[in-house]
Amino acid sequence: MKKDINWKELGFQYIKTDYRFLSEFKNGAWDEGRLIEDDKVVLNESAGVLQYAQTCFEGLKAYTTVDNKIVTFRPDMNGQRMIDSCSYLEMPVFDKEKFIEAVRKTVKANEGYVPPYGFGASLYIRPYMFGSNAVIGVKPADEYQFRIFTTPVGPYFKSGAKPIVIRISDFDRAAPKGTGHIKAGLNYAMSLHAIVDAHNKGFAENMYLDSATRTKVEETGGANFIFIDKNNTVVTPKSNSILPSITRRSLMYVAEHYLGLKTEEREVYVNELSDFKECALTGTAAVLSPVGIINDHGKEIKMPSGMDDMGEITKKLYETLVGIQLGTIKAPDGWIYEIK
Ligand SMILES: *Cc1c(COP(=O)(O)O)cnc(C)c1O
Repeated sequence: MKKDINWKELGFQYIKTDYRFLSEFKNGAWDEGRLIEDDKVVLNESAGVLQYAQTCFEGLKAYTTVDNKIVTFRPDMNGQRMIDSCSYLEMPVFDKEKFIEAVRKTVKANEGYVPPYGFGASLYIRPYMFGSNAVIGVKPADEYQFRIFTTPVGPYFKSGAKPIVIRISDFDRAAPKGTGHIKAGLNYAMSLHAIVDAHNKGFAENMYLDSATRTKVEETGGANFIFIDKNNTVVTPKSNSILPSITRRSLMYVAEHYLGLKTEEREVYVNELSDFKECALTGTAAVLSPVGIINDHGKEIKMPSGMDDMGEITKKLYETLVGIQLGTIKAPDGWIYEIK
């Protein structure tokens, strides 16, 4: 039975669902894990996560397809990226197969919250891990919790298909050298000031530059960039301080193998931004959100795709990716994981 939710009006907000998954790591091993109903987490005041921010997370979505199945998109990639994040943060890894199984169980238990086909909405899935026992000397915790909660969501940007206005930020994305691949709250905490400042000045997002030279484009707070050049080549910035977006990697594959476009992962310089035809933000939450204007310290770089709709190539990429996720276009092997 579907829950009584106005699927059409959903934004990107937390709505409590019925079940969440919990597995606990003690004495060097993970327990079996189980579904629980309590949405509260009770911790010691000196828990590793509270004092030294030892935590990381993932984000993926479950969809109802055109033939009424519930599926997720490439959960193995999220499982692997969480292993990479945990490794760097000195946390125990949670096995990829167990990760996928935990995602399946949690989504299935909350089936009534998976938006039906046709509303442009989905069930957002948030796996996360944190150090849970008391630590006061600076060291990794000994005990951890791996959890997953879910929440039904609509579009991330209110404008939907309308391009947004962003600015080049003087703040850095808080990913120290060599840690750009970690999806962690600590990076987000350090970006909150930059995002509030951007919003206060009327911008939807920040475009962060490389902190060493401030000449190259990196990403936004929670999404990667893609650009379309004059020859319809799909270009994405290459840097080791960018979070490797699964959506972006999927779109580059779609561009090449479904749309026959040329793709390039290379350094993208600020001074070539005005040469691009289209620009978009890409990630699980943003999907593919068109950017209309990039404000460079008062100077507006206008994307020729205009402010009214997605650019032509962005639209094709978007429709193909969403078609693959919703089952109207045949997916590459292994991309769609059926839950029900
Ligand atoms: C999660 C995230 C993205 C998007 O990655 P997806 O795998 O496509 O969801 C991009 N940048 C940052 C900093 C992120 O945390």
